[in-house]
Order: sequence, then structure tokens, then C-alpha cells
Amino acid sequence: MPATAPITQDVLTLPRKLAEAGLPNIVGLTRDALREALIAAGTPERQAKMRVGQIWSWIYHRGVQDFAAMTNLSKEYRALLAQNFSIGRPEIVTRQVSSDGTRKYLLRIEGGHEVEAVYIPDDDRGTLCISSQVGCTLTCSFCHTGTQKLVRNLTAAEIVGQILVARDDLSEWGREPAAKRFITNIVLMGMGEPLYNTDNVRDAMLIAMDGDGIAISRRRVTLSTSGIVPEIARVGAEIGCLLAISFHATTDEVRDKLVPINRKYKIAELLDACRAYPRLSNSERITFEYVMLKGVNDTDADARRLVKLIAGIPAKINLIPFNPWPGAPYERSDADRITAFADIVNRAGYASPVRTPRGEDIMAACGQLKSATERARRQKTGALPPA
Ligand code: SAH
Ligand code: SF4
Repeated sequence: MPATAPITQDVLTLPRKLAEAGLPNIVGLTRDALREALIAAGTPERQAKMRVGQIWSWIYHRGVQDFAAMTNLSKEYRALLAQNFSIGRPEIVTRQVSSDGTRKYLLRIEGGHEVEAVYIPDDDRGTLCISSQVGCTLTCSFCHTGTQKLVRNLTAAEIVGQILVARDDLSEWGREPAAKRFITNIVLMGMGEPLYNTDNVRDAMLIAMDGDGIAISRRRVTLSTSGIVPEIARVGAEIGCLLAISFHATTDEVRDKLVPINRKYKIAELLDACRAYPRLSNSERITFEYVMLKGVNDTDADARRLVKLIAGIPAKINLIPFNPWPGAPYERSDADRITAFADIVNRAGYASPVRTPRGEDIMAACGQLKSATERARRQKTGALPPA
């Protein structure tokens, strides 16, 4: 990288001032959209492709938050960028760290809305669970997020922005190659139904998976859906990440109650869409998530029906002990029931890991996410500790 002249104070402070003036966010723009925006801002067309690569590298590999720090660009070009764009991120309102190392971030986005993202460290990986919507329009009866009305879809910038703020917090910038990073995997399993916001989720994941973007392999990105059947083929064709299905029941009668979207897209249709998902193989399996609810969906007969239903689909079954939340109408299945269920699935040839609840002490476990303000409003609990 060439040495550059010292940066003047003006250039340093300009971006922040202009961001306040509402300049468009450069984060979250796809390659094509950024190229066009750069040309519209006065970048010569023949340079635009190279500029996209350089700017992406600063934003997604180095984490810079100020155009002034992009020292391989001329001072004039940095000023041009600062006059036309901002580098925006969600703001971390609070960060809670669980006794097991899980970190839950409460993030504020435009309009004063709040979403949550959760970082889950493990021996062999670090997974960031991100949100796709503020709240959720679906009303799965065991899910805390489902009790919060949808406020809006997140933009691609806000979806990618969750990864950026987690990397800030973990001091991950510059930790290359990817294997040395703290965040090795992304799961779209936070608040919201990603396939009711497919375009923005796609744009964000294409940046997350691009070698010049955040550079996380597509096999380390998993999108979880409650079963929006017509959108599933688009995930395969336009994103190419791994797929997880919130399955949770083995008859339409029970699934209609647990996952009400099942009234529209039945189990048989959902499984057809799974069978048609591209690139399925032993190394690229569909994950079927199955929440264990005492006396509701956890019998031996359920386990046997489950393996029959998914026959022929390269799959693993992720058994999730129900995570309770205040006022929830269900209980977690007993440990020996979960083991018996897992054994049947396992004997049929499917891996059936039981998902250990993580971050329970900070309400960060699956299905417990709901913005703290919303919780506080309802429960009148005290403020969360500062980050
Ligand atoms: N809306 C998407 C992604 C978010 S939910 C979906 O439904 O797939 C992520 C996972 O957590 C889903 O499998 C969901 O069914 C599960 N989940 C929701 N509430 C839960 C709870 N209280 N206990 C355990 N898992 C839950
Ligand atoms: Fe929405 Fe998923 Fe919760 Fe259902 S389980 S209410 S789809 S977030």
C-alpha cells in the first residue's frame, strides 16, 4: 500500500458531519449497485470496478468507519466519497455476556427500532445469529419473537451491519485467514422470517459470502425458514447457502398449531421444495429444526413419522429443547424423552444433535429474542447493563 500524505482534519471530520445530513449508506450495496453509485458520484467508469474492490476491502476486511482512513485512495477521491456517502452501522445499545461466553447485542437501527444479534462461541467455530426483521408477522405459538408485531424489514445494510458491529466488538478486524476469526459461521435464526425479506437477505448474504466482502464460505451460512415454500427455490438459486427448516411437527394438524404458516404451505409441499433444493449431498444437508415440547410433538411415534417424512433427503435433525419465556404456553420435554426421540432418529441414519441452549441467563437462546425495550414495556423490568 503506498504511503500517503497526512490527512487533514477537514477530511477526517467530513464523513461524520455528512452522515448526519443523511447521505446514502455505502454499506450493504451490492457490487453492481455500488459501482453505479460510484459512477453517479463522479467516478470514471473505467475505474469503478477497481474502486468497488478497494472500498469493499476497507469496509469489510478492515472495518474502517471513515473514508479518511482509506489510505490507498487519493485524498481528493476520499473527499468525493465523503461528500456522497456515509459508512453507517447499527448502534450497539447494550451488550450482555452470558456465563457461557455467548454475547447478545441489542442494536438500534434507523427509526429508533431495535433488533438483537447473538454471538455463540464454540470449540470449533464461532456463530453469529442475526435478525432479518424487526419482530415477525408469523405467530409460531412457541416463539417469543412471534408475540412481537412486525415493525419492518431490515435493509441489506442493517443485516450486514450486524456482522460489522459484532466484528467491532470482538476486535476481529485484521484476523486473517478466515479460520483465525472469531466469527466463522452465520445463521439467519434471529428475529424475523428471512423469506419475507428475501431480496435484502440475499443482497446482504452475497456480501457476507463474497471473497472481497466479508468472505465467509457459503457452506458456513445457514438460512432458517418456517417454510415459505415459494421462496425456497430462490434461496438455492440466488444465495446458495445452506438451508434449515423449522419443522417442529410431523402431522399437518399439529404443525398448523405450532407453525401457522403451515395452513398455507402444507408439510408435503414443504418437503417437495426441500427435495428440489440444489446441491444436496452428504456434505450439504438440510437441517430440520425440531423444538421439543412436552406432550405436544415428542413421542416415539412422532420420531418415527419424522424419519419417514424426510426419507431420501440428505438431512440432519437439530433437536432444540424448548426455551421458555414469560407467559409461554409450553414446557420443555424431559431429558430422557429427548434422548429417546434422538435415538430413534439416529438409528434411522440421521445425525440428531441436541442443541444445547446457549445464553439462557441473558435470554439469548433460540426463540427468546425480543427487543429489550419491548420486554421492558411489558414487564417493567429494569434497564440492561451497559456494554
Ligand atoms: N423465522 C425463522 C428464523 C428464526 S427462528 C424460522 O422460524 O425458522 C430460529 C429457530 O428457533 C427456529 O427453528 C425456531 O422455530 C426456533 N425457536 C423459536 N422459538 C423457540 C423456543 N422458544 N425454543 C426453542 N426454539 C425456538
Ligand atoms: Fe417468526 Fe421464526 Fe418465530 Fe415463527 S419461529 S414467529 S417464523 S421468528
